[in-house]
Amino acid sequence: MVELISGRICRLRIAEGQMHRMERIIYHRYPTREWGCFFLFGYRSCSWGAALSVVEIFPPQAGELNRQSHIFEPSPGYIKRAAQLAMDTGLCLGVVHSHPEGCSTSPSLLDDDMDSYLADTQGGYTKFRPYLSIILSKTDDQVSFSGRCWLDGQWLDVKSLEIVGIRLKKHLSYRHHPSERDIRDPSRERLGDALGEASHAALRSAKIGIVGCSGTGSPAFERLVRAGVGSFVIVDPKPFKASNLERMAGSYHRHLGKSPAKVAMLRELANEIDPSIKVMAIVGNALDDLVLDQLLDCDIVLSCTDTNHSRAFLSDIGCHYLLPVIDVAVGFDGKDSRVSEQVVEFVLYGGEFPCAHCDERIDSYWMSVELMDEQTKQERREDAAKFEGDGAQYWRGEPPQLLTVGYLTGMVGDMLAGYTIGMLTGCFEMPSTRFQFDITMPNLGCVSASRIVDSECHCESCRGKADAAVAWRSVARPIHWPRPVFL
Ligand SMILES: [Zn+2]
Ligand SMILES: [Zn+2]
Repeated sequence: MVELISGRICRLRIAEGQMHRMERIIYHRYPTREWGCFFLFGYRSCSWGAALSVVEIFPPQAGELNRQSHIFEPSPGYIKRAAQLAMDTGLCLGVVHSHPEGCSTSPSLLDDDMDSYLADTQGGYTKFRPYLSIILSKTDDQVSFSGRCWLDGQWLDVKSLEIVGIRLKKHLSYRHHPSERDIRDPSRERLGDALGEASHAALRSAKIGIVGCSGTGSPAFERLVRAGVGSFVIVDPKPFKASNLERMAGSYHRHLGKSPAKVAMLRELANEIDPSIKVMAIVGNALDDLVLDQLLDCDIVLSCTDTNHSRAFLSDIGCHYLLPVIDVAVGFDGKDSRVSEQVVEFVLYGGEFPCAHCDERIDSYWMSVELMDEQTKQERREDAAKFEGDGAQYWRGEPPQLLTVGYLTGMVGDMLAGYTIGMLTGCFEMPSTRFQFDITMPNLGCVSASRIVDSECHCESCRGKADAAVAWRSVARPIHWPRPVFL
């Protein structure tokens, strides 16, 4: 008997290219007969349930599935081969099969038997790692699915299947379809006219993570709140300063001379616009494990900090957990009252895209300084002073304070909200997964970067492995940093 526990769910992510490969196999005998395959996945157990991500599809070889049967019947040899591979790679075993067109994707009694048997059998090989079983079916463009994961001795419901590419296709399990009551929303009628009625439900059921709540993060947040995104996780370690007033949404004259947490100010802003929106406000840094747990419960994470460590970490997370991350950067330069550069960059991480190291967007020296404690910095300065050269291998100074202006960061925040809405609703996409422009250049100087995975980079071999790739993260939380505070 397979009984789902309540209160904890799973989110399953798969890169778009892997999903195509999986569909080619499982719909091989569609629409009347079932077919399926094994796959390997990574996972992270979180307070809310588990983040699961597909690493590799493992197609059946000739004779490994029973062709005479109408249903999916893996042979003992196929099961053994798949369980052995899970054991050898340190990953977990999953199985997917199709149900015929028009049939429900709720598990049959035979599926219950198969899942009980496979969870047990693979556990013998993998020392009781999780086991995952999903069922898919489609009609035209509609996908129906259900899934369950055996984790720590319990069956958890798989709430969503999230296909990550330049688009995000999120399929909710048939048990979690939003009710009609949630969908009607007169205050967002005009947005519905522009993007279609279905956009309300897509936005209302979405959860967005925002890391960095100042120049770009705060306007993106405000725009998404107004558009009706239902839930947020917002993260920033810093309190408000007077210099933030020029660019931070939700900051007012009354905040001057006080130093509330930026995330608290944004939560207040959301409350004034629409009190039904849920905001988890965290004073802390994305590198903390407790924060990561919450980011993995988001549909998309917006990287709005412009620090090397945060960019490196969120790009790692995008790769290891397949989580979509949109990163923005703003470059402003000038001299003698003349502005020479006002560059904006958008980059999409997650799914199958190259990481921030492949893109050469991480300066490892500045990253190490960002993570250093004061004592180490002082020792480096002293070592550099003793050195009979320029001492640059010890100390090149503090990271420069980036120049930036509110009109530029506000525009970037708004565009970022736009691409997030496009991704969530499926109405439009970013023009490419990495592009730059300069608002002072003729034709805005737009360029799209070609992106390739660097063969020296380990991101490709870590893709989807989740916590099994933790040793390959390019950055870890320094122990001298304070733990996060959930407001
Ligand atoms: Zn079935
Ligand atoms: Zn890489």
